[in-house]
Amino acid sequence: MAAHQKVSSDKYTELVSGGLGRELAKRLGLPQPAVLRRFTPGVPLVQGPILVVGHSAGADAVSAVLLSWGQDVRRHATPRDTLGAIVLVLDELAHPDQLSAPLREVGGALRDLQRNGRIVGISRQADAQDTPEAAAARNAVDGILRSLAKELRAGATANGVVLANGTAADAPSTMSALRFFLSARSAFVDGQFLTASSEGSATEPNWDRPLEGRVAVVTGAARGIGASIARTLARDGAKVVAVDVPAAGDQLAAVANEVHGTALQLDITATEAGARILDHAAQRHGRLDIVVHNAGITRDKLLANMDAARWDSVIAVNIAAQLRINQALLASSHFADHPRIISVSSTSGIAGNRGQTNYAASKAGVIGMVRATAPLLAEKGGTVNAVAPGFIETAMTAKIPFATREVARRLNSLQQGGRPEDVAEAIAYFASEASAGVTANILRVCGQNLVGQ
Ligand code: NAD
Repeated sequence: MAAHQKVSSDKYTELVSGGLGRELAKRLGLPQPAVLRRFTPGVPLVQGPILVVGHSAGADAVSAVLLSWGQDVRRHATPRDTLGAIVLVLDELAHPDQLSAPLREVGGALRDLQRNGRIVGISRQADAQDTPEAAAARNAVDGILRSLAKELRAGATANGVVLANGTAADAPSTMSALRFFLSARSAFVDGQFLTASSEGSATEPNWDRPLEGRVAVVTGAARGIGASIARTLARDGAKVVAVDVPAAGDQLAAVANEVHGTALQLDITATEAGARILDHAAQRHGRLDIVVHNAGITRDKLLANMDAARWDSVIAVNIAAQLRINQALLASSHFADHPRIISVSSTSGIAGNRGQTNYAASKAGVIGMVRATAPLLAEKGGTVNAVAPGFIETAMTAKIPFATREVARRLNSLQQGGRPEDVAEAIAYFASEASAGVTANILRVCGQNLVGQ
């Protein structure tokens, strides 16, 4: 992010994070957003013991993995013993009656959860083959974790890993999803679920540099979320190709230099964009493994006032370009070594937003595209997923008028806007080898935004 660029910043959260400001907010009943703990290399995964609730063989297996990561694991709650996280393993549910005991155990331990604590559920996907009782119990976990996420305070979050049919509780992709939710990388992900299957190798990933040796393209990388994605993927070991329009050339070069990657000036709506990306990656880096479709624009108007230029440009950049580039990638033998595609959608594409029929069409379109592309990429051993950011503090959101911005920013369980790195961390998680069994997922990075659906 260039220093001169105006980015919205959340002065209110800073003000109420301590001293007189905190006291005043409390007395007036105003929102008291917590300062979220973000990922810093070298800092422990979880700050405090992890309580594993559940008595299945799966719960034992998950505990064993946590121990192998050097975590302090507890199988029984001891009152007033501060906890960094609670992992609730419910992989053998057959009837909603079985929820009572483990949930009361979690309830009893909640007051011992530290600031920025984590609750992660591990449960099975409910599907049509289940008995109605088992499906009810499995789906009940969804309601529990989403409600718990709304009850937690002080930066704590609740999320869930859902086991696809036939997947063991401690499968590699389950454990990588658990690790993401436990870590500070998921600071702004709340009330969300990742579905994991048994795909993927059992060899322990390099958790410090999971993208070592991989080449990643990031579109819209000159600023905002895209620049942050470039930095995060490079931090995790990837060689990054930063793509943006020629008009953003100087900022693009600065980002590419900073991450020791290369810059490709390219309008992604160009017909030959896919070929240009493949050629650049092959010539400069010898391979291409990860493509992050981040470039996006807004041209807001109520539909009654929408002109063709606004509608067409948003569709062209936000979805048509991604479809065309993906076609070129799928046809190429140079994008075939466990490739990863990650698209940036938006909560507007899930819940809709006034004045954004064009933008919401494009971002909901991204979700449809991701789901239909997953089987095609699976043939190459690859995955495709999307992140759907809510309110993120960038130049895009700095343009929103003050009152609207303040409401949009507070309307989530964490009562604040996210930061570009929150989106970037979720993308890096999907990009890693350890996420091989995670495809066609749409992960909201929105602090559990309350705008509907
Ligand atoms: P931004 O406007 O700060 O950055 C977008 C970048 O994309 C710019 O550098 C721009 O030059 C580039 N770009 C635009 N058209 C392009 C084209 N045709 N070819 C190549 N590059 C192009 O936006 P941001 O806030 O960083 O958003 C990044 C992505 O996240 C977008 O897809 C956006 O829709 C999505 N998103 C943002 C938010 C938010 O709150 N900021 C919320 C949800 C989703």
